[in-house]
Amino acid sequence: MSEFKGGCMCGAVQYAVKSEPRLSFLCQCRQCQRITGTGHSAEFVALAKDTMISGELKFYELTADSGNTVTSGFCPTCGNPVLKKSSGYPGMLFFHAASLDNPGLFKPQTVFWHASHPPWDFVDPSLELKEHV
Ligand SMILES: [Zn+2]
Ligand SMILES: [Zn+2]
Repeated sequence: MSEFKGGCMCGAVQYAVKSEPRLSFLCQCRQCQRITGTGHSAEFVALAKDTMISGELKFYELTADSGNTVTSGFCPTCGNPVLKKSSGYPGMLFFHAASLDNPGLFKPQTVFWHASHPPWDFVDPSLELKEHV
């Protein structure tokens, strides 16, 4: 079992990922801004089959700037966003890094949708910037 485990703020939803993340990134698209309430999301990607989730998430479906159908999973009790799914990446789960028990494990590699960033949102300039996903 990897150390990539976490949950929502109230603890009703918990998860554990068996493998190391496939990708770790920041995303500055408008949808991620709204979901997180700030300038970008911080997410890591895991295979759904390597993931155990306990507790019940509620899902909100939206169309992302990429055209993909993105489903945002959040805890219905505390409202904390925990993960996302995307029609473009079946079988993958995109976990919000701050939901980790140890968020220091998160090591972002790439920034997506940099062109959509608000002028007050700054990211590590050494990260690879991509205009789209
Ligand atoms: Zn909760
Ligand atoms: Zn995004």
